Amino acid sequence: MPAPPGPARAREALGWAAWLAALAALTAGMAAVRAGLGGAHVALAYLLLVLAGSTRGSRVRGVVLGVLSFLCFNFFFVPPYGTLLVHDPLDWLVLLAFLAVAAVATQLLFRARREAEEARLRADEVERLSTLGAETLNAGRAEDALHAVAEVIRGTLAMDACEIWLPDGSGAPGPGARAGGPAPPGGAAAAAVAAAAGLGTGVVERLDGTRRLLAPGLGAAAAVPETGEARALSLPLRVRERTVGVLRVERDGGISLAPPQRRFFAALSYYAALAAERVRLAAEAERAEALREADRLKDALIASVSHDLRTPLTTIKALAHDIARGGDERAADIEEEADRLNRFVADLLDLSRLNAGELRLDPQVAAAEDLVGAALQRAAGPLAGRELRASLSPAEPVLLGRFDFVHSLRVLVNLLENAHKYAPPGTPVELAVRRDADRLLFEVADRGPGIPPAEAEQVFSPFYRARGAQPDAGGVGLGLSISRRLAEAQGGSLAYEPRPGGGSVFRFALPAAELPDGEPSP
Ligand code: ADP
Repeated sequence: MPAPPGPARAREALGWAAWLAALAALTAGMAAVRAGLGGAHVALAYLLLVLAGSTRGSRVRGVVLGVLSFLCFNFFFVPPYGTLLVHDPLDWLVLLAFLAVAAVATQLLFRARREAEEARLRADEVERLSTLGAETLNAGRAEDALHAVAEVIRGTLAMDACEIWLPDGSGAPGPGARAGGPAPPGGAAAAAVAAAAGLGTGVVERLDGTRRLLAPGLGAAAAVPETGEARALSLPLRVRERTVGVLRVERDGGISLAPPQRRFFAALSYYAALAAERVRLAAEAERAEALREADRLKDALIASVSHDLRTPLTTIKALAHDIARGGDERAADIEEEADRLNRFVADLLDLSRLNAGELRLDPQVAAAEDLVGAALQRAAGPLAGRELRASLSPAEPVLLGRFDFVHSLRVLVNLLENAHKYAPPGTPVELAVRRDADRLLFEVADRGPGIPPAEAEQVFSPFYRARGAQPDAGGVGLGLSISRRLAEAQGGSLAYEPRPGGGSVFRFALPAAELPDGEPSP
């Protein structure tokens, strides 16, 4: 037990003197009227003194008063007087009963006082924690909250320093907040923290410079070594099964905490974990906002540039057309290139409108057969010379869907043109339509090179062209990304699957519709 400080020691000595004086006075008082007192009177009077002494002082005081009262009782009030001898067995019984009652009462009083004290400390702790929690975690900036928690841990637990390390961009921990003067040079702290973060266990650095790992999953309270052997302690901070940082405390004289301080340490380290998580979430939100802003700027730029390009392109095309009529063959090339650029600019504009949610779609109930018919007609020119096989599921008399006809046609034609573009000459392109639960499925299949699994999703990103794509196949990688967005904007989907036996299958799904009751099929 630590020695009490000066004034407390003086108070303690005074207390002892007062109680010993009270014992002496009681003994002297009773001795004066000994003839008129029975054993029970004496025992009760001493018992009262012992209880009063235990209530006001420590357990030691209760025990000392009990033993001294026992001796005085024996010496002054049990015959033969003036000796510690006892002849009558009944006197022995009285004396031993007195001693037993004094010991039990002192013990019970001590326990009750200790429990009351613990309850008071715990209530204090809860109050302090709730105030600290509110003060620290409510700090305006996430980094300020982190510093506040580090400062509170250092201050309340009398540590020399407290640091909270956070994972940096690469996931390795870097110093996030430190309380207690500048960090000492050298990488000992970094190494211990990296080990704690990497292994997910606490790391104890001993006073003799050696290091030991704690058992995984040991809570902060249990992690403080009882022996005070630790000079520094690095503990992984976890929130919802995820390591969000490392808490490191240092005390050059050795870290040892009393049980209530351990509980406090555990609660504070959870605050530190919450503060670290808050820093992470704030950084993530900031990054997401920056990305959104960059995305908005990019869309605005694309929209404005594509819009401004359209007018000069129209003029170039018109002029080239006029010149071509005069017989200059080079003008036809110009016209063709102007058309290609025009399509590209139109695609760019559509993509930026789709991203901004500004492209208006008009889903209506329509027959799949009509869509297929229109797609075959539209693709006939570009797919000239290619065998195109279309089949509608014979199981259904009429396949209906709810979709935007114009934009769905655009998706289907794009898929057919892609199949033609990438499949070797002489192989057929197939289009099959069927109903699958509440969806209409349009499957465009070819015997081309297919798409490597690693790129099967990326081909739906704007400007992505699969590595295996023939460089002379034309296109800029916008068709599939626009098609998928158009499919999704009307409640459908577009996905790629490798075709058994080689080639690609693009599956374009649209919401199916039912024929209204009693209505003839269209
Ligand atoms: P592109 O204008 O390049 O055709 P798309 O967005 O339509 O742009 O397609 C993206 C990429 O997906 C293409 O560059 C190509 O690599 C790949 N791809 C698309 N359709 C097929 C297909 N039927 N067979 C093989 N690869 C394809």
